[in-house]
Amino acid sequence: MQELRNFVDGQFVDGSAEFDKVGPVDGSVVARVHEAGAMVVDRAVRSAQRALEGPWASLSVNDRAQLLRRLADRIDERAEDLLAAEIGDTGKPEALARRLDVARAAQNFRAFADVVAAAGLDSFLTETADGQRALNYALRRPIGVVAVIVPWNLPLLLLTWKVAPALACGNAVVVKPSEETPSSATVLAEIIAEVGIPDGVFNLVHGFGPGSTGELLTTHPGIDAVTFTGESRTGAAIMRAVAPRVRPVSFELGGKNAAVVFDDADLDRTVAGLARSVFTNTGQVCLCTERVYVQRGIYDEVVAGLVERAEQLRLGDPRDPATTTGPLISHAHREKVLSYLAMAEDQGAKVAVGGGIPAMGAGLEGGSWIQPTLWTGVDNSMPVMREEIFGPVAGLVPFDTEAEAIRLANDTDYGLAAAVWTQDIDRGHRVAASMKVGMSWVNTWYLRDLRSPFGGSALSGIGREGGHHSLDFYTSPTNVCVALVDADEELT
Ligand code: NAD
Repeated sequence: MQELRNFVDGQFVDGSAEFDKVGPVDGSVVARVHEAGAMVVDRAVRSAQRALEGPWASLSVNDRAQLLRRLADRIDERAEDLLAAEIGDTGKPEALARRLDVARAAQNFRAFADVVAAAGLDSFLTETADGQRALNYALRRPIGVVAVIVPWNLPLLLLTWKVAPALACGNAVVVKPSEETPSSATVLAEIIAEVGIPDGVFNLVHGFGPGSTGELLTTHPGIDAVTFTGESRTGAAIMRAVAPRVRPVSFELGGKNAAVVFDDADLDRTVAGLARSVFTNTGQVCLCTERVYVQRGIYDEVVAGLVERAEQLRLGDPRDPATTTGPLISHAHREKVLSYLAMAEDQGAKVAVGGGIPAMGAGLEGGSWIQPTLWTGVDNSMPVMREEIFGPVAGLVPFDTEAEAIRLANDTDYGLAAAVWTQDIDRGHRVAASMKVGMSWVNTWYLRDLRSPFGGSALSGIGREGGHHSLDFYTSPTNVCVALVDADEELT
């Protein structure tokens, strides 16, 4: 069994307590984790502050971009270690972890090396209304010590999505992975040391949220900004924690994402895309669809197609190539999902497929498995159509007109993502633009160019990251204004 320590100032260090990480596939303990207490968190923040005064501060953008590319190459070389860490913690199928989590980690570093190397060489000669001439430019300084707090669903992908731009912009970070997924961040700490990023630039503290490492980090006075991915409720707690010191936050929070399917859609492609959007990573992606609105004429066909897809999913050992679907992250999370299954049935929803705990084969009985589940007979007034469940579940609702579909899709407290399925090009653009969300797809789902803005509105978050949007968060601009005075001009 692995022992996972904190990483502070280039060294692995013990915590003040220890806890077990339980694997979701069979319920066995996969790692013993050192929880960072107040002292370790304080040391981590101070080491990040010192790193900002050291050689890291004098590296050029090109040097930093070069280091990030080396880091990406090293991630590729250590892909098997990262995969083992990710699969052990989450139980996700190997093919998914390889394609999504580990490949994207390397891409994140390469993408932000490119973005930062190409950014901001503009400056302007300006003149004020009363004729004073100046050279004006905005100098992007690092924002400082950034606290990076991430969840368990795509641990390495989400961590590197924030660490890459933070480092590209010259910041130092203290990262806290989820207590459910401490392993891949620990491998990343080793990689950071291997590629020669100076000590203290990347610090890792393990532990829980409230009353533990997460809260100690967000309330530490040495933190200059917080970037967070996780539940909306946690985002609110973090806002309260940083409010007395007025620190900037970037929040990527929960969703209750809708898909809207029109009767002119290509049915095979749509059903395949819908199935992907509902069931990928056992529904544990913030972008997953949990509400499906289908035009009445094709409603029965879409329900039948999606049920067939759900029945084809294979739950099982993540290392078995036939496995398509892993368990939920924990028994506690399964209890939450099960409570929604019970609530839906109580309120008259009809289970089209799934609806409970599957019978698993030998060795897997102790895991937190759940059946992929679809409901009909639901409507927007029910909690299962309003609250984020974060499992392989969705409700299907018929609609008649485009206006009704838009109204139903936007009838939510969240604003993260939507997908529109239609072959009518005008309608595709029109409806996609009407969705009050951060990402609006047409005839696809989760297709991402890392330069495009990513984030959500309302309960789904604050700010956007991706491409130059990330640079806006991870830098603090200083306007330098140099007077351009003629040699014989008198200063006023
Ligand atoms: P969570 O909010 O419970 O935990 C996320 C992280 O915050 C963990 O590291 C946790 O330890 C920490 N934390 C919890 N309370 C804290 C506190 N008071 N102070 C400081 N840190 C605290 O979320 P989760 O259950 O790990 O992840 C699932 C959630 O993440 C879902 O709501 C999902 O939609 C969301 N998510 C959003 C995105 C996005 O990009 N919008 C991406 C992935 C996941």
